[in-house]
Amino acid sequence: MMPRLALGRLQVIRSSSATANALRFAPRAASVPALSRSFHLSNSRQVGSATKVPPVAGGPVAGQDAMTGETIGGADIDPSALEIELTSSPKPIPPSSKLTFGRTFTDHMLTIPWNSETGWGSPKIQPYAPLALDPSSTVLHYAPTLFEGMKAYKNKAGVARLFRPDKNMERMTRSAARLAFPDFTGEHLTTLIKKLVDIDSAWIPTDPGTSLYIRPTMIGTQAGLGVGASTDVLLFVIACPVGPYYSTGFKPVKLLATTSDVRAWPGGTGGFKLGSNYAGGVVPQQKAAALGYQQILWLYGEEHRLTEVGTMNLFVVLEDKDGTIELVTPPLEDMILPGVTRDSILSLARAHAEGKNTLDGLPAKFKVTERNLTMPQIVAASKDGSLKEIFGSGTAAIVSCVDGIGYEDALVPVPCGADGLGDVARVMLREIVGRQTGEIESEWSELVA
Ligand SMILES: *Cc1c(COP(=O)(O)O)cnc(C)c1O
Repeated sequence: MMPRLALGRLQVIRSSSATANALRFAPRAASVPALSRSFHLSNSRQVGSATKVPPVAGGPVAGQDAMTGETIGGADIDPSALEIELTSSPKPIPPSSKLTFGRTFTDHMLTIPWNSETGWGSPKIQPYAPLALDPSSTVLHYAPTLFEGMKAYKNKAGVARLFRPDKNMERMTRSAARLAFPDFTGEHLTTLIKKLVDIDSAWIPTDPGTSLYIRPTMIGTQAGLGVGASTDVLLFVIACPVGPYYSTGFKPVKLLATTSDVRAWPGGTGGFKLGSNYAGGVVPQQKAAALGYQQILWLYGEEHRLTEVGTMNLFVVLEDKDGTIELVTPPLEDMILPGVTRDSILSLARAHAEGKNTLDGLPAKFKVTERNLTMPQIVAASKDGSLKEIFGSGTAAIVSCVDGIGYEDALVPVPCGADGLGDVARVMLREIVGRQTGEIESEWSELVA
């Protein structure tokens, strides 16, 4: 039986300013143009596989004069239009040892609105605050939302750097196109992110292994329940300081290889960083945790192909009969998220394999391949000793080593060093951290100011 509401305790509050402190971005429902106005799609690049159907006539493009096709204001994100409003009440900055990932945010945020008729609005850096959204906003119903994850690192001398922001921007604009969101020049957003990081630079911790996590996000804010391309989009960027990912040293993880839940599939959206890809992973993750596993190993297909680990890309290290060490990762296709860390590991490993930039700690007989591996192959390699290492890769932890996989009622053992790292993962961690902090000279590292 449902408990009856104690109506006598309900209070009626007549409020004129419930959202006085919140920021209003979405238009009110009444002022929203017809839902059919989704013509800005023609502004987006094609995504997905090429279609054989001939295109039909496109409509006008936001930020472009309908008659002349000339570019007008709003066609792109414009860093020179930045407005800055600094907070009058800065928050205390907690010591990095007290930080829980994603809970503490810096004093400011960056917002850039977009509308299908007026294009991109002025970017603003303003005090961190809640957003005001109409309850019918499309993001709240159909999940048009995408995100990025990148970090700023500060060395002991106080110099702040971003790591390969161009790769995040490339991926973000791909995700945007997939959601019929507007395009923009990645470098323009990077310029604004650098400004935000510089303004909140006191928030970047400097202890080893700490960083400022930056979360660029785009959401469809059009008010109205029709399904279609959102006529209003909000791009915002927030940032949070993160403590050392491994405060108590590197701990290898045990994975549960799930054969019942599927993260991504051919033709799906698994290769894009869309919010809608993640909510469905929570219950499988809970099931894994209840059985004592830290992460899910996502498999695909009858042959139980390995795809990703939790929200990290996957690497496997194998030894050939002739003693060659092979670093394997599944090919991207459209089921694997194109990780910046994945790409960095592949570049470093290939440069080593080709003798262009040899890395201390990696063997001379070394090769790198992008190919699919199946669980039966992993089980066999674990048994015959040719399986040397399995690790996940991502911005949060850089590398995370695996020491066992629960698969079909058995635990498949995976070798892992005594320090919680395999030989290849250890080298990759050192090389990537070195480039993030600027200790190793690299064009991957960009100064914030
Ligand atoms: C973000 C993410 C990764 C890692 O990408 P990085 O750019 O290396 O942080 C891997 N897999 C999934 C599913 C992700 O969402």
